[in-house]
Amino acid sequence: MKNLKNALLLKQLYQRKQLGYAYTSITSFKEVAPELTLPSTLSSLKKQAQECHLCELSKSRKNVIFGEGNSHADIMFIGDAPNNSDDSIAKIFTGRAGELLSKMITNVLGLSREEVYISNLLKCHTLDSHNPSASHTHTCYPYILKEIALVQPKIIVTLGTLAYEYLSHEDSPLEEVHGIVHQKEKYILIPTFHPNYLLKNPSKKKAVFEDLKKVKKLYDSLL
Ligand code: SF4
Repeated sequence: MKNLKNALLLKQLYQRKQLGYAYTSITSFKEVAPELTLPSTLSSLKKQAQECHLCELSKSRKNVIFGEGNSHADIMFIGDAPNNSDDSIAKIFTGRAGELLSKMITNVLGLSREEVYISNLLKCHTLDSHNPSASHTHTCYPYILKEIALVQPKIIVTLGTLAYEYLSHEDSPLEEVHGIVHQKEKYILIPTFHPNYLLKNPSKKKAVFEDLKKVKKLYDSLL
């Protein structure tokens, strides 16, 4: 029932947008997650996401890209949205960005992709995947919150600005805050750059290497 209400509300918002109304800024969105009744196992949450039509991205996606990896992982990586390649082959973090993320996990943390959990704020590909709209992100936000609650990671590494802003509720430039440890109520959050950004700015690889060394140190201290 709540899902139906949300869908109707969203439809009204789209109609108003077509009439010329503008959406408000991301900072007013990210404080409060929209109410959405979600199941309490990862498999049923994935199923619900796969059937989700709460935002207009459901019309253009080929696949819903849910998180994957160890469902009891101590470390969870969270990016922004699936890319074109993810959408085509129905797998998270594929292509060059995915390869780079896998290398980072293996070479610095000494873990495989299967030993961590990897997800995104949005479950559907956006036509401009590096810049998902605030309304789409806000609508999808309850899914990632529920995923975090179910996986219960001890450390969350956010990849890129959007994931950092939504999960820290802060909007300092990533350039200034990457690698800084944020102690949250139930986990430690460490922001770093997104692999896509590193592909375009290889000089930042050293900074990410240092950020992940901090993650490794924290992870080792938890064992
Ligand atoms: S992006 Fe999220 S809210 Fe939008 S349709 Fe996909 S799963 Fe639903």
